[in-house]
Amino acid sequence: METQLYQIKDPEKDAAILQKAAEILRRGGLVVFPTETVYGLGGDATNQNAAMAIYAAKGRPSDNPLIIHVATPTEAEPYAVTSDTYYRLARHFMPGPLTVILPKKDTIPLSVTGGLDTVAIRCPDHAVARALIQAAGVPIAAPSANRSGKPSPTCAAHAAEDLTGRVDMILDGGDCEVGLESTIVKLEGDRGILLRPGAVTPEDLRRIIPNLSIAPAVTAALGEGERVLSPGMKYRHYAPTAPLVLLEGEETHVRAFLIEKAGEAGVGILCFDEEIPVMPKNATLFPVGKRADLETQAHRLFAALREADATPHLERLYAHLPPMEGLGLALYNRAIRAAAHTILHVT
Ligand code: AMP
Ligand code: MG
Repeated sequence: METQLYQIKDPEKDAAILQKAAEILRRGGLVVFPTETVYGLGGDATNQNAAMAIYAAKGRPSDNPLIIHVATPTEAEPYAVTSDTYYRLARHFMPGPLTVILPKKDTIPLSVTGGLDTVAIRCPDHAVARALIQAAGVPIAAPSANRSGKPSPTCAAHAAEDLTGRVDMILDGGDCEVGLESTIVKLEGDRGILLRPGAVTPEDLRRIIPNLSIAPAVTAALGEGERVLSPGMKYRHYAPTAPLVLLEGEETHVRAFLIEKAGEAGVGILCFDEEIPVMPKNATLFPVGKRADLETQAHRLFAALREADATPHLERLYAHLPPMEGLGLALYNRAIRAAAHTILHVT
């Protein structure tokens, strides 16, 4: 399959490109598009064949459900059983990096929801994504636009690396602002369960859902044979080629440990920007931002891991264990998966 690649900055000026993309979606084809979280691999959410094509292009098991992207919160009505809590969340966080799981209606084929009777709804906060949904006139089912087993793409080049020849079109709208996938919350009546942390934090959500619970799999390793609430939790997550070890402990101890390791052959370090000057000159560093700047760390994490994977002769990677509060929880969740839960306490 030939993949067309277009840069798109302004949905109004580039309306002709959006029309082409919309036509592809309406006839069951696949379009990669930018959102504020990560790039999405989109197909018509009401078309069973489009869903199958998404799974095939990603190399993803078809029981791992897709998120449905709509342009405004009320556009979820034909597809999901909405509630007061949904609209209260929508008022605060939509459009934005929040996905809400609701009971599904028959308009969404079971192949899109991996056979579940619930559906994931998101309203992306990105001009190109919203213009594309509107131009298509159908909701867009989209997982992250990476091949299964790779990190989510935070720029068009990452998506192109993974999906060229497997999709009809890639829309390049520049770097994704957030850089981590959306927060996922499942609503059951007025109860809410956090299934995946993201840029909308548990603290944000508790202002609307005071009794929000956090699924154990968000922070812990899954026990053998344990049941999961979100199918995505059970799959082996992306891990870099060089095994990643996360470090926790006092700042001075961790820094001394890193300086020592950085001098060794085959070692790469996902370091804070302020650590760059103190590291040995020959160190292989992948800076992720300042220690206190979790936004930048979220923005850079997946790109840093892709860079590490593209660096020859790396045998081990070290990174700081993120804090478990605020946006830190989303970083923590992605980091422990990439590290296969390997945490080293440095004393
Ligand atoms: P991705 O878009 O690649 O980040 O993947 C979407 C994730 O959303 C999947 O891995 C699922 O775990 C989750 N998800 C989508 N739909 C549902 C649903 N109906 N119930 C629970 N989790 C869902
Ligand atoms: Mg994904």
